Amino acid sequence: MSQELGVTVDKENDIHEWYRQVVMKADLADYGPVQGTMIVKPYGMKLWSSIRSEFQDKIDNEVDNAYFPLFIPERLLDKEEDIVDGFGAEVAYVEDGSEKDMEERVAIRPTSESIVTDFFSDEIRSHRQLPYRLNQWANVVRWEVSDTRPFLRTREFLWQEGHTVHETHEEAEAEARKRLKQYEEIVEEHLAIPSVLGYKPEHDKFPGADYTYTIETLMPDGRSIQSGTSHNLGQHFTEAFDVTYEDESSEEKTAYTTSWGISTRLIGSLILAHGDDNGLRLPPTIAPIQVVVVPIYQDDNKEEVLEFSREAENELKGIRTEVDRRDHRTPGYKFNEWELKGVPLRIEIGPDEAESGTATLVRRDTGDREEVEIDRLGDRVDELMAGIQEQMYRELETYQEDNIRTAESKEEMLGTIGRSRGYVRAKWCGSESCEAEIKDEVAAEIVVLPFEEDSSPEAVQSGGTVEGECAVCGGEARKWAWYAKNY
Ligand SMILES: [Zn+2]
Repeated sequence: MSQELGVTVDKENDIHEWYRQVVMKADLADYGPVQGTMIVKPYGMKLWSSIRSEFQDKIDNEVDNAYFPLFIPERLLDKEEDIVDGFGAEVAYVEDGSEKDMEERVAIRPTSESIVTDFFSDEIRSHRQLPYRLNQWANVVRWEVSDTRPFLRTREFLWQEGHTVHETHEEAEAEARKRLKQYEEIVEEHLAIPSVLGYKPEHDKFPGADYTYTIETLMPDGRSIQSGTSHNLGQHFTEAFDVTYEDESSEEKTAYTTSWGISTRLIGSLILAHGDDNGLRLPPTIAPIQVVVVPIYQDDNKEEVLEFSREAENELKGIRTEVDRRDHRTPGYKFNEWELKGVPLRIEIGPDEAESGTATLVRRDTGDREEVEIDRLGDRVDELMAGIQEQMYRELETYQEDNIRTAESKEEMLGTIGRSRGYVRAKWCGSESCEAEIKDEVAAEIVVLPFEEDSSPEAVQSGGTVEGECAVCGGEARKWAWYAKNY
């Protein structure tokens, strides 16, 4: 493989540089001229569009799309103190000296709870309007100063944010859980990545939220990525912004809200989770091109081979197929390039195949090759697509299962995280200071209190869900916490 085309470092040896090269060389994104920004190139944008339409389909019957301004008056942000504290220095402001009558600073949306809830306070009058649900596809800005990693860490990124209003806490709770479940479907079925769902610890909730839920995915370097969040905001925002409605007996009531989001960060997870030393590997569900046909010919057999390639293409109705007819590239170059771009299946068609009426199939995930009669091609490709999707998921599932370890003391936690990374489950008393001790020493934190451990705050309030002692302080344990280094 030529140096300029392929990835030049092993994923295992230097995942940071490997990631950078895959993003650039697979044509997914580039760095923008302002530090911390990214240019999402067409191939990368296709991945986001695919996630977008998949999620849009899930919410279409209940949620309407809307759009809110990028600019938020500072007074609206200030109405909700926790937001100001929570986002603090990450909020960027426009302070244009030429604008004479600019009476207050204008924030560039870090998230839209304040401007949306302000809108709700005008819009919502009656219980008949509830539940009220809207969603926007937008960009947000978090002015962090840190090294840029396209899709994973940028000052501006794309996301969807859903905002809903309800009559009761229970309805808001059901809404927050439902959207989290839909994120799980996106991550597991569309991206073929296993996940862990649960609560964020009390001290790590979204500013002002009653509960914050997270969907976590474990990356090959043993770090966890938060791949989506949903928040039951209770009456926190509706009290600050005075969102009330008349109930059935004409009584004035304060409403409840939720918010939930997934972002282009999912593309970062996708690259990290599935890629290998040859570049990207895409699950068939999300791959912009599922099958690439590479005709291999000389001048004297070009016509037959191209004609037979067209026949093959005709057999692949309903499958996103590209025939690579570029004359100025060798077959070898094309193989490498499509591998780099993660196309799940390659079909090679040379003079031998054209003569025998067959095609050679090569899987991107395993490298396995097989020959298929042309009239069986469509069926076989369908089978392989399903098989590849399944196999890619199972591989990661095994990895995840192998990387959940239990630790009983602080020493064991530190040792296990230091040696093996992954998730370390430990009994926890609920105190932030115990998490801080781990964080200080190995830069790992509690990423999730998984549902599967039944550590719901309700259960905890009624006496806890786990017997024994906190692994860090020895105090009475209240829940199982999963610690990990994270992105
Ligand atoms: Zn403790």
